[in-house]
Amino acid sequence: MTNPGGADDRGGARLARARDLLSLRGLGALLISDLLNIRYLCGFTGSNGLLLVLPGRAVFFTDSRYTLQAREEVQGAEVVEAPELDPAGGEAVRTASITRLGVEEKSLPVARWRKLGGLLPDAELEDVSESLDALRWSKDAGELQRLRDAAQLAEGALRAVLPKLRPGVSEAEVALAYQVEALRLGADALSFDTIVAGGPRAALPHAHPGGRRFERGDLVIVDFGVRLAGYCSDETVTVPVGRVEEEARRVYDTVCRAQQAALALVGPGVRLVEVDRAARQVIAEAGYAERFGHGTGHGVGLAVHEAPTVSTRSNDSAEAGMVFTVEPGIYLPERFGVRLEDTIYVTSGGPERVTAVPKEFGAVWDWAARG
Ligand code: ZN
Ligand code: ZN
Repeated sequence: MTNPGGADDRGGARLARARDLLSLRGLGALLISDLLNIRYLCGFTGSNGLLLVLPGRAVFFTDSRYTLQAREEVQGAEVVEAPELDPAGGEAVRTASITRLGVEEKSLPVARWRKLGGLLPDAELEDVSESLDALRWSKDAGELQRLRDAAQLAEGALRAVLPKLRPGVSEAEVALAYQVEALRLGADALSFDTIVAGGPRAALPHAHPGGRRFERGDLVIVDFGVRLAGYCSDETVTVPVGRVEEEARRVYDTVCRAQQAALALVGPGVRLVEVDRAARQVIAEAGYAERFGHGTGHGVGLAVHEAPTVSTRSNDSAEAGMVFTVEPGIYLPERFGVRLEDTIYVTSGGPERVTAVPKEFGAVWDWAARG
């Protein structure tokens, strides 16, 4: 079946990797409830379903709204119309005589959990959320292409709205124009609400675009992304509007060097906590350690924020095929803020950028003019 938005699971490799968890963790089956994991493993793009992975087969349960869609999209699993596994689905679970069931605690509401308890009164439930999310860490060529396409579309929309970043225009106007342009260019949706924050409002890392109008001398943070064919983009530029004060320029260059230091370290086997530390160290040496409160990055794929995280709490190491952001920032309350974010792809030779807008001070204007 053609499957434009769903899985590209050639030969069932993804389901096979999920199945490996059965023997690794001593489980009779996996019951997968996270819709993005479901999409990744079997291609279903709708909003309700459960995927049961058994040693010899897989069964996808959905309700009548999605039965036809599931029959078109789902690969590697038989489709059963049985919302919440009951009654036909429950039968499939019971006859498999499962004593240990892998579930995703973070996407399994208590109500569903109780129902499962009724279906499998003696089964022990084990949380496999992290192991399942880790299946999506490494992107294949098809996924990488979709991530690149999403980033390119998102950048096209930025290029179109950048001329609006001038004194007198409000953050909300730019955010709205961005959304319109992204959809006009063919995005499925924004991957998150665009952040447009100028002047003192840029000191709030996740500011909601408001009525403030840009002034000469502002630094404006624009954090933008779209979803295309299921895959997300995520990138941040900090745009100078006219001439900025000296310290703002110094802070900008510090963030730029922090990002470069982190990127220089990225390669297979490098601990992500070290990548975070590389950025943090540059910022600390410039005297702004307290002004960089968030992590350095996060995975990007079917979700705009997914595993692994690149932060002081990371336990994982970079692997070839991983896609994550590197986005240090410095925020001076009531004055200004700077964040620079790229999404990168890990190769054996180091990082390759998925996002392409140059991050040196003011370079975004030249980039937009070149378009
Ligand atoms: Zn972002
Ligand atoms: Zn991000």
